[in-house]
This record gives sequence, structure tokens and C-alpha cells, in this order.
Amino acid sequence: GERVLSVSDLRVWYGTERGPVRAVDGVSFNLHAGETLGLVGESGCGKSTLGRGVLGLLPAGAKADGEIDFKGTDLLGVGRRELEDLRGPELGMIFQEPLTRLNPLMRISEHFEETLRTHEPSIGKDETRRRSIDTLRRMGIPPTRYRAFPHEFSGGMRQRIMIALALVLRPAFIVADEPTTALDVLVEAQIIRILADLRRNFDTALLLITHNLGIVAEACDRVAVMYAGGIVEEGDAREVFGAPQHPYTRELLRSTISLQTTGLHYIPGSPPDLVEPPSGCRFHPRCPDAMEVCSKQDPIEVMTPQGQRVTCWLHGPEAEIPSGGRARLV
Ligand code: SF4
Ligand code: MG
Repeated sequence: GERVLSVSDLRVWYGTERGPVRAVDGVSFNLHAGETLGLVGESGCGKSTLGRGVLGLLPAGAKADGEIDFKGTDLLGVGRRELEDLRGPELGMIFQEPLTRLNPLMRISEHFEETLRTHEPSIGKDETRRRSIDTLRRMGIPPTRYRAFPHEFSGGMRQRIMIALALVLRPAFIVADEPTTALDVLVEAQIIRILADLRRNFDTALLLITHNLGIVAEACDRVAVMYAGGIVEEGDAREVFGAPQHPYTRELLRSTISLQTTGLHYIPGSPPDLVEPPSGCRFHPRCPDAMEVCSKQDPIEVMTPQGQRVTCWLHGPEAEIPSGGRARLV
């Protein structure tokens, strides 16, 4: 598909008493129509900030620079009004904590009618109903409940209705931040299914933020691994999971696998302080492969022969590695 989103050198920071927190520190990636990019990393690595940042939904006090090109429009450059017009029909969002809530006085049907009337006034009553019921059904909400009120549903069902409200507009680009964490396993499977449908039927580009690597393996074309505000590895999901090239990716995968089996492997140490991050490679205090250069110089992003972007001294450039000799490859 065509390129929908191009993020270049995005930085997001906010002030604290101790100094600026660099939550996103020079992130670049592209996303194409119909493509799903999984964004993974430990909590506090900046992935939620990145997801909100690309939609212009940063909290007050946060600052951003860089470039976010969405179908030719720089989202960092446009005014609030223009951004609000894009949200909904073009830019969708699914957050664990919905920004808007269902109106307790309105039937579910009325929420859908209002959403579609606002953003797609040309479609008629029958089409509104058909499309809404279809989207709800995909989220496991039966058509018989279409005219019910929000209080007649469980919390999990209300969240699914919120997701359906975002999806019914078929936006070109959706950010989903931990959409399943608070939900039951059944819903997780449904969401994965509907995400796959979206991609197939509507060519939606999706940024899926999650700590669940299983979901990424199942639902994503590509994966970006984030550590301490930066993307340390990015590439085809199968390649990255099959042969991780960055030590952090490898450790993250090992910790996930062992949590599911024996629970014995944890990545030692804890995620770094983003006010005063470690020098050089930010992973060096926790990295089993750290070399002398790692604490001294920022590693440079390289492209592996398999097409993975990796930012790690193990991948050269060779000339930059001191003490002679080529560092061993993972
Ligand atoms: Fe480990 Fe060095 Fe690579 Fe960082 S640059 S991940 S410390 S080997
Ligand atoms: Mg988060």
C-alpha cells in the first residue's frame, strides 16, 4: 500500500523538577496502508507517549519536535482545529482509558448515528444502521443490543462499544494502545480478528502498542522495539522474532517465553531514568553483551542484510569498534 504515515526524528519531552524527561528521543518510522506495526517495550519506555504524540494528543506541558507526515500533512504543524477534524474520520484511536465516554442518556444506536452523521453526513439511515451493527457484531455485541443504553452493558462490553465507535468510521490510520489489557481473553481474540479484517477490507494502517508479544506475532506485519525513548530494532515481525538482532529484543523475547513456561528469566536491572539516562547505549548497564564502546558512544543505526534496522554496536560500523577485531554478531 501507499505510505500513510512518516515519522522523522520525533522528540517528545516534558519538564519535571529534576529536568526534562525525554520520553521519545529521536524516533523515525513509516507506516503503509493496510500495514500493522507493533510497538513493544517495557512500561515506561515511551511507547504510549509516542502513540499519543503521533496523534497530537500529548498532555499539556509536553513538547514535541520532528516531523509527522500523515498523507502529506505535517501533524506537528497543523492547528488544533485541523487536527480535530482529522480525528475520527482519518485518525482513529483506541486507548485503554477512553478519552470520551458513552453518554448514559443515549442509546448505543444514537452514539453510532451521531458519530456517522458528524463525520460522514452523506450516508443514509439504512447504511448507518447496517455498518454500525456489523461493526458491533465483529466486537461480539449482538444486533439485539443495538438500542440498549450504556448501563445495560458490562465494563468490558462498553469498552468494545467504544472500539466499535472508533472503527465504524474506517479511519486511514489507527493507534491502539494496549487495547486488550483490561479485557478478557475472548475479547483479545476478537480484537485480533477485527484488526486483521480492517487491514484486509479497509486498508487501514495500524500502530498497535502492547506489551503482549504474542499479539504482535499474530497480528503484526512489522515490529518496532522501543527502549528508553528510542527504537532499538525494527523490521519484519517474523524476522525480528525469529532472529532478534538487538540484545534487548533478545532479552525481551526470552523473558516473555520464560514467563509463559518457567518464569525464571527476567531482564536484570530496571528501565533507565529518562531524566538522566545512561551514557552511550542506554541499554548498556543491563546488556549481557556490553563492550567498552557501549558506555562511551551512542550506537549508530544500521540496516542488516535481512532488512532490520538495529541500533547496537554489535552491528558495527566495524571501524567504530575500538580494540581491533570485529565484534561478534548475535
Ligand atoms: Fe549491548 Fe552495546 Fe549493543 Fe547496547 S550497543 S545493546 S550495550 S552490545
Ligand atoms: Mg503505556
